[in-house]
Amino acid sequence: MNGSHGSNYMTDVLLTHSYFLRFDPKEYRAMKPYPPLGTLYAASFLRQHKLSVALQDMMLAESEEDLVPALLQHKPKLLVIYDDQFNYLTKMCLGRMREAAFRMIQIGKQHGTTVIVFSSDATDHLDKYFAHGADYVICGEAENTLAELAVSLLQSQDKSPNTIHGLAYRSNGSYEKNPRRELVDNLDEIHFPAWDLIDLQRYRNAWIARHGYFSLNLVTTRGCPFHCNWCAKPIYGQVYHTRSPENVVEEMKFLKQFANPNHLWFADDIFGLKPGWIPLFADTVNNQNVKIPFKCLSRADLLLKEDTVRHLQRAGCETVWLGAESGSQKILDAMDKGTTIEQIYEAASQLRQSNIRVGFFLQFGYPGETKSDIEKTLQVVKDCKPDEIGVSVSYPLPGTKFYDRVKSQLHEKQNWRDSQDLDMMFAGEYHPDFYRALHRIVHKKFSVWRGIRTAQEVLVHPTGLGKRALRSLASMLYHGMTLPFELKKLEQLEHLPRHVNSPNN
Ligand code: SF4
Repeated sequence: MNGSHGSNYMTDVLLTHSYFLRFDPKEYRAMKPYPPLGTLYAASFLRQHKLSVALQDMMLAESEEDLVPALLQHKPKLLVIYDDQFNYLTKMCLGRMREAAFRMIQIGKQHGTTVIVFSSDATDHLDKYFAHGADYVICGEAENTLAELAVSLLQSQDKSPNTIHGLAYRSNGSYEKNPRRELVDNLDEIHFPAWDLIDLQRYRNAWIARHGYFSLNLVTTRGCPFHCNWCAKPIYGQVYHTRSPENVVEEMKFLKQFANPNHLWFADDIFGLKPGWIPLFADTVNNQNVKIPFKCLSRADLLLKEDTVRHLQRAGCETVWLGAESGSQKILDAMDKGTTIEQIYEAASQLRQSNIRVGFFLQFGYPGETKSDIEKTLQVVKDCKPDEIGVSVSYPLPGTKFYDRVKSQLHEKQNWRDSQDLDMMFAGEYHPDFYRALHRIVHKKFSVWRGIRTAQEVLVHPTGLGKRALRSLASMLYHGMTLPFELKKLEQLEHLPRHVNSPNN
């Protein structure tokens, strides 16, 4: 339990969020929990408006019922279920987390609070959230809307909800949605997240026990201007705003002193898109002596501009994840990805030469993808030798061109229950079980290829046989042995009829 008030104090706002690591088995096994950054920004905004704030963080909680003791302790006037819009896991709008949000709305109402919700999922499904008892839903960038609404509700300003931009509210048995709010364009004016509300020791313990280091998250930008046509952006649309390198480095200095992480995750959609930003960031980090190894996301085309890879290395970059998506140019073009296969090869090669680890996000099942396109993707993975891969299948989310294209094929189930669900929710080229088997095969092949590289390196440098190398070799043996069985199964699944999930799946 967090929060700075005594047990009998009436808190203005109790903030929480609906992403539970425990309800997402794949992520729970990976055990890489990050604090809900967006929720901490919201807390910081509310404090600037002189409101008292407490936080019930659900990332490491057992269940929705953990909200009850927090409500009893803080006796808040407002309960705000505010998802971290910077974490891709909340952007996936998972069914289990939606259920959690609904249960928390119910608990909040049972305790007599006014319930306000902000999430990508609520923005896309206002009707469902109002039907489950939410009093208000915030759409678009949320901090200023939340602050205006909270001040109005708490300080009896009697402002009519229809004057608050970015707000959806109940009205005559239905709901109304106001016009969008302007986005904050000077991100340097935003106060740092309210890090003091988080029980950082729990996060530190989880990371150290499992990985031997402690990683924390921060963001340097908001939004993304690219047009990948399956990528849902209900909060920021196509807008891209950036903090100054100096402002980001200030926060790194603060974090170093406050939490001393060994590693950072820059949770931006795209890190350092603005020309000249990464070189200046690298200079500032070095001048102020706050270099911390970090992971970030980028695009193959951007990495090849302005000597970017060298500057990333100077700044302390340890890993870059690329949305490689497919090894077939036909599929990249169909996705409106705007990158080429040659760029993926060149970017991966430059990163490896600079000793920066490479992660590839891969996506299978995009409409029109054939067996030969799948083979091309596997070839790119084999040739480019990424250190890590993340494999998914195409997932239609509302508001995207891709969703509109396959909408007529969707049944009742339109969200994955958790991040390992991987259901094909539209009529893919193959049966959904084919893609689940393919997912396993890609990971197995990847483990074998990586293990072979490790074995070659160990032969040349036997002293390099550490824990990581041993794990890689053991994984190669296991997956090498089980791969033929999975390949056989895939062959059988290839011939199953195409199939859309049933409503009961
Ligand atoms: S670059 Fe990444 S965040 Fe931007 S539209 Fe494409 S997938 Fe989405």
